[in-house]
Amino acid sequence: MYQHVHSPLPGQMMRRPLLISAILRHAERHFGTREIVSRCDDGSLHRYTYRDCHARAQRLAGALAALDVRMGDRVGTLAWNGYRHLELYYAVSGSGAVIHTINPRLHPEQLAFIINDAGDDYLFFERSLAPLVQAIAPHCTRVKAFIVMDKDAIGIKGIPRLACYEELLAEQDCSYTWPVFDEDAACGLCYTSGTTGNPKGVLYSHRSTMLHSYASVAPDMLNLSARDCVMPVVPMFHVNAWGLPYSAVLVGAKLVLPGPALDGASLYQLFEQEGVTFSAGVPTIWLGLLNHVRTEGLRFSTFARTVIGGSACPPALMDGLREEYGVQVIHAFGMTELSPIATVCTLQAHHLDLPADEQRQLLQAQGRVPFGVDMKIVDDDGAELPWDGKAAGHLMVRGPWVADAYFGQPPGSALEGGWFPTGDVSTISADGYMRITDRSKDLIKSGGEWIGSIDLENIAMAHPAVQQAACIAVPHPKWEERPLLVVVRKAGCELEPYALLAHFNGKVARWWIPDDVVFVDSLPMGPTGKIQKNRIREQYRNHLMPAVPQL
Ligand code: AMP
Repeated sequence: MYQHVHSPLPGQMMRRPLLISAILRHAERHFGTREIVSRCDDGSLHRYTYRDCHARAQRLAGALAALDVRMGDRVGTLAWNGYRHLELYYAVSGSGAVIHTINPRLHPEQLAFIINDAGDDYLFFERSLAPLVQAIAPHCTRVKAFIVMDKDAIGIKGIPRLACYEELLAEQDCSYTWPVFDEDAACGLCYTSGTTGNPKGVLYSHRSTMLHSYASVAPDMLNLSARDCVMPVVPMFHVNAWGLPYSAVLVGAKLVLPGPALDGASLYQLFEQEGVTFSAGVPTIWLGLLNHVRTEGLRFSTFARTVIGGSACPPALMDGLREEYGVQVIHAFGMTELSPIATVCTLQAHHLDLPADEQRQLLQAQGRVPFGVDMKIVDDDGAELPWDGKAAGHLMVRGPWVADAYFGQPPGSALEGGWFPTGDVSTISADGYMRITDRSKDLIKSGGEWIGSIDLENIAMAHPAVQQAACIAVPHPKWEERPLLVVVRKAGCELEPYALLAHFNGKVARWWIPDDVVFVDSLPMGPTGKIQKNRIREQYRNHLMPAVPQL
């Protein structure tokens, strides 16, 4: 905690606010001919330059002004990684409004909740997501127009207040000038699953995003340069693709945006064709790519580095990419609330003489903080624990790109004593390497996306034959974790696993439905009457899940 004290002698340097529009302006001025390549829904490639992107972002900002989008207004997007989404990133934030990127894989009810909670005035969406928009539109009455990100809206039916992206742009020229305003203004909004209740919004500012972008390009972070060709595989609706649509543009890297096809074969083709040097994504994506190159006997000709995060990176994946393919794997840890990067794992000078196996072990940690992030671990009573690599405690962080409160909540309300509790449990070594050992928050992470265990338990408990239910994460070779339901039946009731699983149909997204059900006589209870999930997790950590066709 600190107080703002006004100095009697302020410094006399320019007070230029850190604004997102400056990133794209810089790129168009200094890297104007550098390419942005996007793969469209139909598989075709769209190519243009930073100069073109800037000009179209100006036209889009003009269109937003014509729609009466004002500073602080929220503009939603339901979109893959592509050039129109990038234009929205810059036009919306650059004009002082707030880009609210939304995960299309959520259940329609959750989507409608998020859009209403955010107060989105406009919703931009991919043509391929029109059926989803049609389903949620009646529940999003505040939205003034649903804008399809395409050249026309022909063939789209059943969506009220429908407009078309390219038609809006066609009415504008490039005379828009980016406004200058306070760097503390909000620029972006991302929702993250709450452990209880509904998803919560994290509202980034221009300042927090700019500082995060500056920090993330440094050599011991993502090490990005103008010579790189960067492909963010992590979606632009997942914490702003870990900041890459800002940081890669800031350094003038070539940008490759892969669209919706993220299978091994499609990614490999783009890597090779476009000369990608750097990428980023969750472990599941790289497992798919590694499988593909292994089975097809392929090699990478330019791919040099990838950041893996969002879930713990399995050591076998790290070793496979590094040892068989020479790709440097950079393990990173972050959260929506942390913009997202908090730690990155790279060696320090005193590690360089260590035996290869010790280096390998070290690189499996989640890593160390850059300048800008402070971390500590505490016990259940909040007492700080030593950095000895052994004591495990609740990981707390703070810094200028860490959330202070959730959207709509009072200042500081997300903090405990000035620190943000991550809900992760970790150790920290004497030289500052953080290693996640467990999670105290009650969530399951499958393929890099959250599944709310409490929501699943509530649905299970609503079944007339269920007495008690606990939903836990079980390690899974492809999805990292999958949900398993452990259930006590009501006395005298018959219930088969398939019947209970069928009860979830339509209530949650299909990929949320547990893979298996185990019936037990009782669940372990703690002294305060809470189900001891950690004991159940321990008991079933080797549970073999059946193959699930819908995945
Ligand atoms: P999200 O807000 O969706 O980005 O999720 C953040 C959470 O993902 C963290 O609090 C961790 O539980 C988990 N996470 C992210 N990166 C890692 C990692 N490298 N290793 C283990 N867990 C991770």
